[in-house]
Amino acid sequence: MTDDAGRHRVVVVGGGFGGLPAARMLGHRPVDVTLVDRRNHHLFQPLLYQVATGMLSPGQIAPPIRHVVRHYENVRVELAEVTGFDLDRRVVHATVAANLRDLEIPYDSLIVAAGVNQSYFGHDELARFAPGMKTIDDALELRRRIFGAFEMAAVTEDPADREKWLTVVIVGAGPTGVELAGQVRELAVRCLAGEFRTFEPASVRVLLLDGGSEPLATFGRLSGKATKELERLGVELRMGSRVVGVDSFGVDVAAADGSKSRIDAYTTIWAAGVQASPLAAMLAEASGAELDRAGRIAVLADLTLPGHPEVFAVGDMAKLGTLPGVAEVAMQGGLHAANTIWRRLNGRPARKFKYRDMGSVATIGRFRAIASVHRVRLSGFPGWMVWFFVHLAFINGFGDRFSTMLRWLRSMVGRARVEREFSTAHTGGDLSLPESVRGIVQPAPFPNAPNGAEP
Ligand SMILES: Cc1cc2nc3c(=O)[nH]c(=O)nc-3n(C[C@H](O)[C@H](O)[C@H](O)COP(=O)(O)OP(=O)(O)OC[C@H]3O[C@@H](n4cnc5c(N)ncnc54)[C@H](O)[C@@H]3O)c2cc1C
Repeated sequence: MTDDAGRHRVVVVGGGFGGLPAARMLGHRPVDVTLVDRRNHHLFQPLLYQVATGMLSPGQIAPPIRHVVRHYENVRVELAEVTGFDLDRRVVHATVAANLRDLEIPYDSLIVAAGVNQSYFGHDELARFAPGMKTIDDALELRRRIFGAFEMAAVTEDPADREKWLTVVIVGAGPTGVELAGQVRELAVRCLAGEFRTFEPASVRVLLLDGGSEPLATFGRLSGKATKELERLGVELRMGSRVVGVDSFGVDVAAADGSKSRIDAYTTIWAAGVQASPLAAMLAEASGAELDRAGRIAVLADLTLPGHPEVFAVGDMAKLGTLPGVAEVAMQGGLHAANTIWRRLNGRPARKFKYRDMGSVATIGRFRAIASVHRVRLSGFPGWMVWFFVHLAFINGFGDRFSTMLRWLRSMVGRARVEREFSTAHTGGDLSLPESVRGIVQPAPFPNAPNGAEP
């Protein structure tokens, strides 16, 4: 159960909110840790929307994993994509990113925290028309589309066309959709004011669509406050709206009464639904554990897999009771797994995982947030203060806390959005998305898409 040096080998898959704290906790201990991730950076996903809307740079929310663990000599980082597991031989299969070489990484204990991907509910073809926001690439693509839409609005001479460039549809009124909707309105109303000569940026319409009855439904009675804040910002809420089609020119929506309508918009963003990493299904097949509808693997009370006390699944890809897919659950799960390994090595028994709920927060525009911490419910500026300190504390240790705080103040107290650069290299220097406008890609056929509609 050890390596050549006689030390216990721990493999951690994923350097996100679950995996990274686990590796750090085992750092400086007499075990050998291999941290495998297909990306070279940890990603602070809760602030992706600030990258997409020009407030923060990618580097401020994505510190290099090697740098974060550099002081732990017993932690080795492997930039590789995990492709499978052999639970009998206790080996992880991976492909090294640098040279595409296949790699076998043996372990004595395994922690898998590979997270979730965007889900289009079986319609992955929608991703092209309505990108999600899970990675730095996603956020930069959204940044290009959002700022690019204002540029296109500036040059088009057709008022109807300009209106479509100035319409942003966001699908999903959970925290991601709400935060993004608020930020796009703030951006247009405050930050871009006075920058264009041919139109008023504040005329941008932001429509937030969701099949449920209220935004931020998981916040209970605070969701009423969220509705008011969104309306104050000028976000158009379309609750009870199910998206049944998306193309380059807009979205098709079915209302609760079955009636259908069309929203013309050149920018659509997907913030609805997640699907667990395929690694969850691989572990389930190998261990006999169950998967839920979102592809999450059901774990035992100590976060291990049935029949495999040496294998832990934690974070968003794991299912334990009704625990939500949030950063705090992943972090506590990762720490629990690392602690259990350490306890066992010291002859102590494993314990059940007990989640300590620290509450939840979501911002809605400048200096406005809702926060639910134990029994305390806060909204408006007091809620934002909670958001501010919670996020500052989370960033601590990963990135440059001070520069992030200055950037927030500069964007929120002042009006500057300095991170607005975007690349058009992959579109041949052309901003005029949708691609179909340029005849490069034909929109996929959707039930209610206008036939051959060319703006
Ligand atoms: C836009 C957005 C906003 C959010 N806002 C909040 C918020 O405000 N508050 C909150 O609590 N939570 C928020 N969350 C959720 C939070 O980010 C997740 O709960 C958390 O990241 C889960 O941690 P994890 O370790 O399970 O997965 P992740 O943090 O996603 O980490 C998974 C890691 O596994 C790696 N990986 C995946 N597959 C492989 C593979 N095959 N091989 C190698 N490596 C692999 C990935 O590269 C990644 O680094 C938000 C999420 C998003 C997307």
